[in-house]
Amino acid sequence: MDKTIVVGAGLSGATIARLFAEAGNDVTVIDRRARYGGNAYDYVDKNGIIVQPYGPHVFHTHDKRVFEFLSEFTEWEKYEHKVQAKVKGKTVPVPFNITSLYTCYDREKADRIRKALTKEFGEGAEFSILDIKNHDNPEIRDFAEFVYKNIYCKYTKKQWKAKPEDLGYEVINRVPVTLSDNDKYFKDTYQFMPKKGFTEMVGNILKHPHIRLKLSVDAQDVFSFKDGKIYVYGEEFDGKVIYTGRVEEIFGYKFGILPYRTLRFKVKTYNKQSYQKTAVVNYTTSRHWTRVTEFTKFTCPPKDKTVIIKEYPAKCGKTEEPYYPIPVERNYALYRKYAKEAENYPNLYLLGRLARYEYIDMDDAVLSAMQAFEKINGSDGFSE
Ligand code: UDP
Repeated sequence: MDKTIVVGAGLSGATIARLFAEAGNDVTVIDRRARYGGNAYDYVDKNGIIVQPYGPHVFHTHDKRVFEFLSEFTEWEKYEHKVQAKVKGKTVPVPFNITSLYTCYDREKADRIRKALTKEFGEGAEFSILDIKNHDNPEIRDFAEFVYKNIYCKYTKKQWKAKPEDLGYEVINRVPVTLSDNDKYFKDTYQFMPKKGFTEMVGNILKHPHIRLKLSVDAQDVFSFKDGKIYVYGEEFDGKVIYTGRVEEIFGYKFGILPYRTLRFKVKTYNKQSYQKTAVVNYTTSRHWTRVTEFTKFTCPPKDKTVIIKEYPAKCGKTEEPYYPIPVERNYALYRKYAKEAENYPNLYLLGRLARYEYIDMDDAVLSAMQAFEKINGSDGFSE
């Protein structure tokens, strides 16, 4: 059997490990953490509530293949994600929609703004706040200023330490402005939560006779990379290494550290049935945390207890957990140096959010793993 080592037992690693195992390869998956699931890891607390200690993870995809693949490993519970933001003491749906508009403005003014926006974009349209910020029509420009200030600006500065316009459309358009009363956060065809959590789902993906899972094993202690050859505990290894960790680590940070944002979390249990109206409330104008997630709003039935998590973004050094690659060109340029270095190793494949420095969702992680598997299996390899 061909030997394959997958570094990282998150969704990317688990998916590709499974595909290689099903194709008859002998796969070893290692992870430095003592648990699998990556940042989608969750656990059931003593009150029976599924808690996601690395922040909210909601599965959503347009991709039937991704949905069908994961459906082999979990039962689902239908869940449509809703998010609200507090604006001037009022709670409004995010994405900012028609309901938000009429909550923030008096009817007459809201009617005028709606009319102007509908003329510009069409009934029910979605558009970027960045598209209307400098609009010719003063009514639209004022509205844009309001939404920018109350929804995007402070949240983005807290989250990224950058202004929305400096990050560009890729990030900001994840959350458009919408001219409908649809208050769903995602528009995807498939929106579900795994009934027993993501850890259970990832565990099932990894459960295969050809997969050996080794937790609490740090790739740094296992591998060395030299002159186009990979060594495992000092011995040359000619199998495939699929690496989903932070790419700088395997090359000793030789080109410098790639900028990430990390998060600090505070989890708290309350002796009450409900903490907030929706699963997530974004704090778009206040200073400290970005959002509060209440896990009992996901799949758990209401109880006399509830659990929330608050997220505090921060700068990420070598020792913090990297959660968000910061998607600006100068970082991509630095990343490309590492990707090029990786090309010197024909049996090394980079995959996932960290190894490819991509701000991707869970469904993209699975899809990329599927595509990488097909590419690797059908060719001699690619390392970028
Ligand atoms: N965003 C914002 N205000 C909001 C929600 C999102 O400014 O109320 C911006 C912010 O820059 C955020 C980005 O849109 O990082 C993407 O939001 P999303 O909820 O997709 O982020 P994730 O869930 O990946 O942290």
